[in-house]
Amino acid sequence: MTDPDTQDERRGATTAAAAPPTITLLLGKSTDYLKGKGSATPRLDAELLLAEVLGMNRVDLYVNYDRPLNPPEVDSYRELVVRRGTGEPVAYILGRAYFRNLALEVDRRVLIPRPETEHVVEAAVVFLSEGVWSAGPPRVLDIGTGSGAIALAVAAEYPDADVTAVDASEGALELAAGNAAAAGLAGRVAFVPSDLFAGLDPLATFDLIVSNPPYIASAEWDSLPVDVRGFEPREALDGGADGLDCYRRIIAEAYQFLRPGGCLILEIGYRQASGVTGLLIDADRYRDLSVSKDYAGHDRVVRASRL
Ligand code: GLN
Repeated sequence: MTDPDTQDERRGATTAAAAPPTITLLLGKSTDYLKGKGSATPRLDAELLLAEVLGMNRVDLYVNYDRPLNPPEVDSYRELVVRRGTGEPVAYILGRAYFRNLALEVDRRVLIPRPETEHVVEAAVVFLSEGVWSAGPPRVLDIGTGSGAIALAVAAEYPDADVTAVDASEGALELAAGNAAAAGLAGRVAFVPSDLFAGLDPLATFDLIVSNPPYIASAEWDSLPVDVRGFEPREALDGGADGLDCYRRIIAEAYQFLRPGGCLILEIGYRQASGVTGLLIDADRYRDLSVSKDYAGHDRVVRASRL
């Protein structure tokens, strides 16, 4: 394996003449290294990791392009770049991901929140703003909350919402609860250990149920990028033989937990619009089905109202 950055400089460091490497030099070398390792975003990765080591933001790296790095900084940076070179996602290396206006702690117990999932929050806020719930604050349920991304963003963006978030993973709930506290939303979201609806009070009802369930077909697992396959929790991604297992269960059971006129909003894989709307139609308990697209133009969010 080639060293990612500064082998030459380190060798040279024993001689008085060797200049310490600058930000520009290190970024160039580590970008090439990460490109060679197959990163889809080598320059961005290199910048995010170096900014972390130096306690800067990415703009500072450009302002300070000729700042020399001392040997401990170079060593710390090399360690992070090597980790990224193995495919480990930047969000796990930094322990942090950004979603809507939240900074969330993430680790390998949870899926890294994706930008396309922000559309689920958008759709949720649109529904809540329609103001068609019966009485009291609208009750929202997030199924498979992971890092808490959707639940916390809805709580933050719709201050009246009374949010419950469930996950089958205790580790995920622990992380999500920490994220709630860090965002000042601890009192706003109830976290419940539950495999889909199984752990909920069977009499509970909600105005809105949201979820980004696992939706990758099992057979596609081996062809996922190593960043995903090698690091993210399979139970958050693998949706069974056709990727629709969780939708079948959610669509069958959500009816019981939604009040009449309540809304179900689901993230879907970009080729699953007909599969998921088909399940909703077959269930014969939902109306006003709609599918909306993400910024890439892919079908991404399905919305339906309970009859
Ligand atoms: N969008 C994710 C991916 O492609 C999958 C998320 C999910 O299964 N819910 O990696």
